[in-house]
Amino acid sequence: MTGIESLLNGFRNFREMYFEKAPDLYKDLLRQGQNPRFAVVACSDSRVDPAIVLQTKPGDIFAVRNVAALVPPYEEDGQYHGTSAALEFAVTELSVDHIIVIGHAHCGGIAAMVRKQEGGTINGKFIAAWTDLLREARERALAAEPGLAGDALQAASERQSVRLSLENLTTFPFVRAAVAAGGLSLHGWYLNIFDGVLESWNPDTRTFEQES
Ligand SMILES: [Zn+2]
Repeated sequence: MTGIESLLNGFRNFREMYFEKAPDLYKDLLRQGQNPRFAVVACSDSRVDPAIVLQTKPGDIFAVRNVAALVPPYEEDGQYHGTSAALEFAVTELSVDHIIVIGHAHCGGIAAMVRKQEGGTINGKFIAAWTDLLREARERALAAEPGLAGDALQAASERQSVRLSLENLTTFPFVRAAVAAGGLSLHGWYLNIFDGVLESWNPDTRTFEQES
């Protein structure tokens, strides 16, 4: 079933699960308000939904999803910063304990960025401007391993993009303040959807390490 009815069936299952069989969870979430301990920045890609990948329940994660799981740098320009607004709410209102940036393999947003840097054209009005924020990821990947190309350059750029977004997180004053106060930890993860493997960035060893 691929039509809209499949979504409505999904909602019926959700309603049965959380409003008929086990209604306490939502009653509590409404009575006490949401109190997620995790904010997640993930890609909009249909294969990497963090609630599915991480098997979370309603109320567990405050999720921001955008093209390429990108955290833009802090900017005070009065423009429309959806990701920054979500992060501000997560940190200053919800006081989450963790922010996790989850990049992934075979990311179309990173592929668009790499293609544009190599002289290709990107269709549309918005994607290239957005993914240009990650162009340094490809440059860093090439600086670390000159001669990288094709799939290897793509994968290296994806991992570097996670690191770049982590660095951009620290340009937000409220993030810096919460980290300095010991109330917030930042994490960079890379989801390899080819092999079903999750890697996490270890700032001490400066490598991505495979989670078991
Ligand atoms: Zn993606």
